[in-house]
Amino acid sequence: MTAATIDGRARAASLRAGIAVQVAAFAARVGRAPGLAVVLVGEDPASSVYVRAKGRATAEAGMRGAEHRLPADTPEAELLALVDRLNADPAIDGILVQLPLPPHIDAAQVTARIDPDKDVDGFHPVNAGRLATGLPGFVPCTPLGCLMLLRGVLGSLSGLEAVVVGRSNIVGKPMAQLLLAESCTVTVAHSRTRDLDAHLARVDIVVAAVGRANMIRGNQLKSGATVIDVGINRTEAGLVGDVDFASAAQVAGAITPVPGGVGPMTIACLLRNTLVSAARREGVPIDEAGL
Ligand code: NAP
Repeated sequence: MTAATIDGRARAASLRAGIAVQVAAFAARVGRAPGLAVVLVGEDPASSVYVRAKGRATAEAGMRGAEHRLPADTPEAELLALVDRLNADPAIDGILVQLPLPPHIDAAQVTARIDPDKDVDGFHPVNAGRLATGLPGFVPCTPLGCLMLLRGVLGSLSGLEAVVVGRSNIVGKPMAQLLLAESCTVTVAHSRTRDLDAHLARVDIVVAAVGRANMIRGNQLKSGATVIDVGINRTEAGLVGDVDFASAAQVAGAITPVPGGVGPMTIACLLRNTLVSAARREGVPIDEAGL
């Protein structure tokens, strides 16, 4: 059996096209475009690439992007003051402070300073709590994108068994909450999990978010499983995921490639969250379910 490849680029392109249509309608009605502020401190090369890509995608969707690039030695108080200004700016609907931050800055404090209703990354503890308790808020973009891909392949996820490998606050934990909300039976595995093989062999859905190249192989999977590979690992052979694609594709029912799977969905979901934020803040109805 050879798995279907889940085309994240195509799904993200259609999501972005739908967002652009609703952005145009929003702007015509309210008299301004949704605004996304992106803050980058320092010159981390990977972060610079992400910030540039986010700026491009924002403009393509018809939104207003405001980029704030600060030097690596910016004092924490200065960054917090910028966040305060963006919180108070009525033309800004979404605020994203690119992580990682330099070591002299307390990232948790900065995240907590962002107005939860402009926190389009969904990292604020208030939004984590909303997700855990089933209240409307903002869901982190990467797990939200994974959920959209899973729904596209499987339709209803109700009753399915899922393993999320990884328990970070930005991917693993919110992914587990989303799957639970879809009525999956969810196991969260991590570095201290005793018998990962036993969990993987049992489940219909695997979401891998670890950061270890090719760590999950086809012989560990249940036949026909749906595999979402969040991992981005730079190797001599180029970018690879946490799942060994060649062997997994022989066993899985469907699998995301790296690159071209989860990655494009992350940015599309950031645009989605920004549009949703703008609509909520202005009291304009949009079709959230259609996004
Ligand atoms: P992270 O914060 O480093 O978390 C990694 C998780 O993997 C931890 O919970 C860790 O367990 C677990 N882990 C480590 N070794 C393991 C093992 N041998 N078996 C089982 N679990 C193990 O990473 P992250 O931020 O969640 O990111 C994960 C990966 O996704 C990275 O490759 C990152 O680049 C990628 N990513 C991609 C996107 C995208 O848009 N495609 C977005 C975000 C992240 P402990 O908690 O026990 O240490």
